[in-house]
Amino acid sequence: MSLSREQMLVEMGITPIWVLRDEAPVEPAAAVSQVVPAEAETAAAVAVVAPAASPPADFALHPMTAVDTLDWPELARQVTDCRACPLCEQRKQAVLGVGDLNPDWLFIGEGPGAEEDAKGEPFVGQAGKLLDNMLASLDIVRGQRVYIANAVKCRPPANRTPEAVELAACAPYLERQIALLKPKIIVLLGKVAVHALLHDDKALAALRGKRYEVAGIPVVVTYHPAYLLRNLPDKAKAWEDLLFARRLLREQMAPELPF
Ligand code: SF4
Repeated sequence: MSLSREQMLVEMGITPIWVLRDEAPVEPAAAVSQVVPAEAETAAAVAVVAPAASPPADFALHPMTAVDTLDWPELARQVTDCRACPLCEQRKQAVLGVGDLNPDWLFIGEGPGAEEDAKGEPFVGQAGKLLDNMLASLDIVRGQRVYIANAVKCRPPANRTPEAVELAACAPYLERQIALLKPKIIVLLGKVAVHALLHDDKALAALRGKRYEVAGIPVVVTYHPAYLLRNLPDKAKAWEDLLFARRLLREQMAPELPF
């Protein structure tokens, strides 16, 4: 799908704000100072993830073999067959990710939902449509310059929030994806992705507008598209976050140029 910028702005429902922010981007520190603290995602999205714990005693885990040397075909094969956490029990299929294998951008969400589980691709359905529109606002189309993945590769039953043990079990796959992709910027979509990669369970409002780093790659935090569908005013904040990420990307690509 390819929307014009105007179509995207209409879709996001925040046309004036997005245009103005793009022309006069807010500095990261200012953006942080403008954040209203503690606006909450839905209960499912904000559930504080407990520290990593042991898997359920009644689940027959198949310990994951080392993944830090796998190439893409080997990684895909291992994820497809993975039984390293209880999420394997009810999935239709594992969903590794989709996109350009030499991307500038890496977007990381929470985990597959029902439609993703059925189709084998992350971010389909309404949240996926919104993510595509967010990408379009950056002049990106799915599959070009961007890779999209999730913190866990298998659908949690009833779309519940992945548990800490599941995030920990799946983390080596995400880490290997980052190592293979070598993106120039990572955008974390929602609290679960933040917990998985940054191991921080603060409120998202307190985490936005700052530059983090993983494996030398800048990382930015913003809202999950599914949350934005239910909280329309926060789309403007998501746009601020994307502009911030784009500035960091430009600094990565051409540090000698002023922006
Ligand atoms: Fe394996 Fe990750 Fe699926 Fe758990 S969620 S079974 S660790 S691929």
